[in-house]
Amino acid sequence: MSIQIRRVTVLGTGVLGSQIAFQSAFRGFDVTAYDISADALSAARGRLDKLAAIYRDQVPGGGDGKAEATAAGIALNSDLGEAVRDADLVIEAVPEVLTIKRDTYEKLGELAPERTIFATNSSTLLPSDIKDFTGRPDRFLALHFANQVWHFNTAEIMGTADTDPAVYQAVVDFATAIGMVPIELHREKAGYVLNSLLVPLLDAAMNLAEGGFADPEAVDKTWRIGTGAPAGPFQILDIIGLTTPYNIMVNGDATSKRIAEWLKENYIDKGKLGIATGEGFYKY
Ligand code: NAD
Repeated sequence: MSIQIRRVTVLGTGVLGSQIAFQSAFRGFDVTAYDISADALSAARGRLDKLAAIYRDQVPGGGDGKAEATAAGIALNSDLGEAVRDADLVIEAVPEVLTIKRDTYEKLGELAPERTIFATNSSTLLPSDIKDFTGRPDRFLALHFANQVWHFNTAEIMGTADTDPAVYQAVVDFATAIGMVPIELHREKAGYVLNSLLVPLLDAAMNLAEGGFADPEAVDKTWRIGTGAPAGPFQILDIIGLTTPYNIMVNGDATSKRIAEWLKENYIDKGKLGIATGEGFYKY
């Protein structure tokens, strides 16, 4: 018999956790969101209210009070045991720090029912890095969303060699049911599909501009016209925000460090962080 997922608990109510909780509830799942403190939960309430406004204005079917009702229907809890007591699926979106993930899964493995599936939204850790902390590697895999889940609706699904195929399939079905397009990976790959493509593109674009070969506008124009893509790499960087690539590149090799310095001097130090601050490579 196939595995049924009805009740979902999201761990961590930050940028991604709040979106995953909202999207799942919007599509009719019974959702609980867990975070570590009352303060974190009150921030979560604020995030859900902001998402309600976005869904009301931008997402088909979000009007007539549906978006507000979705936000109100998400249960918030700071007691991990209570939050996962009846969960069919736990989606983990806690900070990208291995010790925090480890601590979270060790507790979760003890507290969740045996049937509960665990999925990590980690962008940079492989499920193999985490599976031994879960106590149930056969019911564990990665389910990776992109920021702005209502708009950029890929869900990359990646198991380990230990993941039960029926669990994998149940998560593919769940992703589809909440309106995502499931992207199935057959083997573990750092960066999944999307970042395996995107990171080298963004790096190459920054190399061209930092090296003085071509301006960001020329690079973007080339990409748009030459491939038919709607946006060029610098437009994408403005959406991501410039601090994320800076933080990655400042710890990289000599070329990466030079690009980090270029980002800092020309953009970050001038408050040009991307769309979020009204200006990055472009003005908004
Ligand atoms: P965030 O910092 O916005 O949110 C993290 C949340 O976890 C916060 O609400 C924090 O209070 C909570 N938290 C802290 N310690 C915790 C603990 N011990 N147990 C439970 N919750 C705890 O982070 P984010 O950007 O939402 O990223 C979360 C995960 O999602 C990471 O694994 C990241 O790689 C992944 N991810 C992020 C993005 C993105 O664009 N931000 C995209 C895809 C995947």
